[in-house]
Amino acid sequence: MAEIAELIQMTNTHFCLDCGVCTGSCPVARVFSDFSPRQIIEKCLYGIEDLSDENIWNCLTCAQCSVRCPANINFPEFIRLMRDEAYSKGYSGTLTHNGMLHTIWSLQTKGITQNRTFWIGDGKTSEKGDVFYFVGCRPYFDVIFRDINAGSIENCKNILKILNASGIEPVVSNDERCCGHDALWNGDEETFKKLAEINIEIIKASGAKKVVFNCPEGYLTFRDFYPRYFGDLGFEPVHIIDFLTEKIADGALELSEFPEVVTYHDPCRLGRLSGIFDPPRELIKSIPGIELREMPRSRENSVCCGTSGWINCSNCSKEIQVQRLSEASATGASTLVTACPKCQIHFRCAKSAFDLDIEIVDLYDLISEHLK
Ligand code: SF4
Ligand code: SF4
Repeated sequence: MAEIAELIQMTNTHFCLDCGVCTGSCPVARVFSDFSPRQIIEKCLYGIEDLSDENIWNCLTCAQCSVRCPANINFPEFIRLMRDEAYSKGYSGTLTHNGMLHTIWSLQTKGITQNRTFWIGDGKTSEKGDVFYFVGCRPYFDVIFRDINAGSIENCKNILKILNASGIEPVVSNDERCCGHDALWNGDEETFKKLAEINIEIIKASGAKKVVFNCPEGYLTFRDFYPRYFGDLGFEPVHIIDFLTEKIADGALELSEFPEVVTYHDPCRLGRLSGIFDPPRELIKSIPGIELREMPRSRENSVCCGTSGWINCSNCSKEIQVQRLSEASATGASTLVTACPKCQIHFRCAKSAFDLDIEIVDLYDLISEHLK
């Protein structure tokens, strides 16, 4: 564990210009007037930041500030490292859902038996093979968020349907664990490492050379963080969007007409953190008859879905979500398309609480429903 002064050196945070662009860009600062990334940095630089500061956990790690920072300071990474330090001293964010998700990923570090492949039905999978489909936490989400119709399992079925339609029968493992994304961004590095080690072992044993993701968090975690901790993985993380774009472009998959106006929400981990902006738009536009209308805040300027890592869901989160859904409605679209299971959960939660008149649909569900 590093002290704050060391974190400043590691992340070049001492280059901060004190310009305030980060605070001016931050969706949390717009709602919580006492939250300021600039002030967190300044307090750290002056040696007066305290690891008990609640604001360390209020950051969404959405990178809206860092993409605009003139000094290229990676504030989400700085916060992640601060959380490591704070967590090691016994601090944490306010756990959502009574800590249920935290308990689940902690249990998954043990030798448990799961029932996470019940949804496969007549989908075709393999015990071993070149392609592994990393399902992520959706079998759990489907149960936990039943009351808001999370649609998480439907989404897994649709991904499998797309893969099967492309002639792929992927490995789907009942032993898979949470990718560790949330433990990592909660400062719980030890849990992250345990989960990652189990996943790497399972994937290697399957013989897979490619691991397909449709959850942006899983993809980012495997692509950027697993190699950082474990070196060469011996397999390649692949986002389903690259695979799908290729299949549609070469005519292997054909889509039926959908004469609707939709808008697209860039998930932070897919857009700003993974740099994937155009492929989801191309995919939407490949559906005959569809019209994609952009929201004013899109691509690099997209806004977070309001909460991250199952901590500190607050009135700020709800305000961000309601504003976002209103922005989507104002485009005239009937449907907000997103490409992250958690964005879908958070927006469906806000929609059900505030009775908003817009459908929230996952991109791959949309594609699967229109497969010819
Ligand atoms: S935008 Fe960058 S340089 Fe400006 S205050 Fe924020 S962290 Fe410092
Ligand atoms: S990462 Fe997002 S929530 Fe955190 S300070 Fe930057 S803009 Fe605000």
